[in-house]
Amino acid sequence: MRLFERDIWSIFYILTAFFTMSLIAVAYSGWHTIYKQYQTSQENSLKLIANSTHSLYQTNGIMLEIVGHRFIEDVTYKDNTNSMKILDAALLESPAITAIAIVNPQGQMLFATNGLDVARFPNLLKQEDSRESFLAVMQSHHMMFGRTYYFKPFNDWIVPIRKAIRDNQGNVKLVITAALRLDDSFGFMIKNVDQNHQYAITIIRDADKYIQYASNGSENNYEIYRKPLSQERIDVFEKSIKLAYGATFDELKRTEHLLSLPYKTEDGVEQLASLKYDSTYKLWLISMTEMAVIKSAFAQLLMIYITIFVAIEIILYALVKVIFNADKKRNSDLLYQATHDQLTGMPNRSYLQTNIYNWIHDSSQPFSILYLDLDRFKSINDSFGHQCGDQLLLDLARRLQLIIPRDSTVIRHGGDEFVVLTPLVESREVLGFAKTIIDTITKPYTINNLKLHIGASIGIAQYPLHGESFDTLLRSADIAMYESKKIKNSIHLFENSMAEGYLQNVKIEQALRNAISDNELFMVYQPQVTPQGDFYGVEALVRWQSGALGLVAPDCFIPVAETSGQMPAIGQFIVQQTLKDIKEIQSALARSFQTSINISVRQLMEPGFTDDFINCIKDNNLDNISITLEITESLFIEDIHSIRPLLDEIKGHGLSISMDDFGTGYSSLSILRNLPIDELKIDKSFIECMFIDEASQKMVKNIIMIGKNLGMDIVAEGVEMKEQLDILKVFGCDRVQGYYFSKPLKKDQLIQFILNTKRSM
Ligand code: C2E
Ligand code: CA
Ligand code: CA
Repeated sequence: MRLFERDIWSIFYILTAFFTMSLIAVAYSGWHTIYKQYQTSQENSLKLIANSTHSLYQTNGIMLEIVGHRFIEDVTYKDNTNSMKILDAALLESPAITAIAIVNPQGQMLFATNGLDVARFPNLLKQEDSRESFLAVMQSHHMMFGRTYYFKPFNDWIVPIRKAIRDNQGNVKLVITAALRLDDSFGFMIKNVDQNHQYAITIIRDADKYIQYASNGSENNYEIYRKPLSQERIDVFEKSIKLAYGATFDELKRTEHLLSLPYKTEDGVEQLASLKYDSTYKLWLISMTEMAVIKSAFAQLLMIYITIFVAIEIILYALVKVIFNADKKRNSDLLYQATHDQLTGMPNRSYLQTNIYNWIHDSSQPFSILYLDLDRFKSINDSFGHQCGDQLLLDLARRLQLIIPRDSTVIRHGGDEFVVLTPLVESREVLGFAKTIIDTITKPYTINNLKLHIGASIGIAQYPLHGESFDTLLRSADIAMYESKKIKNSIHLFENSMAEGYLQNVKIEQALRNAISDNELFMVYQPQVTPQGDFYGVEALVRWQSGALGLVAPDCFIPVAETSGQMPAIGQFIVQQTLKDIKEIQSALARSFQTSINISVRQLMEPGFTDDFINCIKDNNLDNISITLEITESLFIEDIHSIRPLLDEIKGHGLSISMDDFGTGYSSLSILRNLPIDELKIDKSFIECMFIDEASQKMVKNIIMIGKNLGMDIVAEGVEMKEQLDILKVFGCDRVQGYYFSKPLKKDQLIQFILNTKRSM
């Protein structure tokens, strides 16, 4: 994964982790807030309930007191009718009270409302069940209330309340007792406070642990009122309080503190419980909320948080994805740009390097790689401009793409080099394919109204036969291409023997780089004489005494210098050194003579060649020397159109032109006629064969005749024997050069040679 990709996803994961942690923190605090909210609201309502309960008892206590005193003050209270009136009026005033009765201090019921038959009521003092509570009422100055119980005559659950009424001396005159309807009193009060029925409210009598009121009492069919709470439950509850607050029931009774705590009922239901003690009426007030309710409220909140979290995550993810995709697109665009040639849009060298592995790895299927190099594309660039060169490349690329089958790939490997990968391997097929390519791209191009021609050389290597790795494969194709370069528009399939020559050339190329700076190059001069044996001039020939390779023949290193781009520097050395030497020799001998300098194809094509050459002559004050440039015949034929202006320019500067190696190429007479050539140099291969085959002799004779007809001087090179000289004399050859007269000589040897030879100029 790339760095940016990793970074952006890391940011995403970090943010996700951060949001997750935030969610946990917010949820945690949310839980506490909700819990606290429930607790506070339960505590508040419990306080209200405690107050309401307190005032329920208080108001009813006051009411009993008032009613009781009315009785005492009314001396006629024994009069039934009046007493009943008082009681009925009291009943009306207190809606929660369902019945009132008056009991004398002896426990005998005297009056009762609701048409109750007082005679049928047992004496409260005498009856075992009620004796104790009756005595407690007689002794207390407060209102007393009994357990909640089912009162059959009313068919209802009631809470009995009693109060002893005293005279001014404090003697109990009577006991007034009333029945509070459970639902109308407690039920009504609690419904008022807890309208939503949110809490389970229980009021417990501390004295006997009977439930006075439970908001869910009716749900239990009132059974809970029939027996006290089990000691076990009480103990569990007290233990919970102790655990949460370290407090006992007794301490709570004393302080009347309200406190809340989590609590688990005996049937395992978790509750949030709040409790408070009312010391006046000795009541425990307990409110409970099921934890499930709080949890569900929390769950709702949590859902909101989670929704927000998920939304943020989705947005974040989408954002990251968008950035990531944009980056990916940018990268793939960059990758496309990096792997495709800008001019032609073709895959380039980087593409080849990355994708060749698909060819090599995907299938061990054999395939062929064609290395295509355009011949002298540079001269088109130099002569007609880069725009023209680009246009030609574009046209050529289009042509190539049209003929390349789908399963093959064409790559622009360099400026004028292309590589084609094709699954074709059968020699005949692949050579045919290469031939089609050459035929296609050698057809003329029309650019800016100019008709241009370009040649191409193709080298072919096959996988895995000629290399199992990309590098060796490409090198093999390159070697084969190098072989093709020797013949115009040719195709070569790689052969192992090619590699040796190639390797030798690589060595030469390496060593040649330091040849000039290490002073390994020097010039020798081969004399040219007239058939009569008079000294005429010299041909300058370069020598390379390589430290690494020994003496390397110019035939071997000049072509390497040309293909490796070292010819301009070497050419410059040749010209400068020759002119310097010749100047020295001529001044030493105080005479001038003709000097021929070989000019290689690339040298001549180098932009500014003529100017540099002329400047060099001027720099050496050699204006008076007659110089001939030897240009090999094959060059003339190759590009007659572009060569003509060059030759005219050279001639314009007073230099002569010699056509070298004449006879090896295929120059036509018209070429000879149309070019400003001063001298024809018959190749030494013809001179060599003159005594072996008659055709050669005829050829030499004809060349001399034609040349002379066109007003040219004829020079024969490679003259080794007197016989050769004699014939050439007969044929009318103007000059001769060869071992018969002299081998190429060093500067000092040349001086000696000239001094020993007859003078002809
Ligand atoms: P070339 O221009 O045809 O040069 C003549 C070659 O024939 C020279 O070989 C010379 O030493 C050799 N030669 C002369 N007389 C005889 C003879 O009687 N018998 C035989 N067997 N050979 C003779 P060299 O010097 O090895 O040069 C070979 C080629 O290298 C030249 O062919 C020329 O194409 C190139 N060359 C040599 N010097 C230069 C140079 O300074 N510049 C350029 N551009 N090319 C050069
Ligand atoms: Ca020559
Ligand atoms: Ca020659």
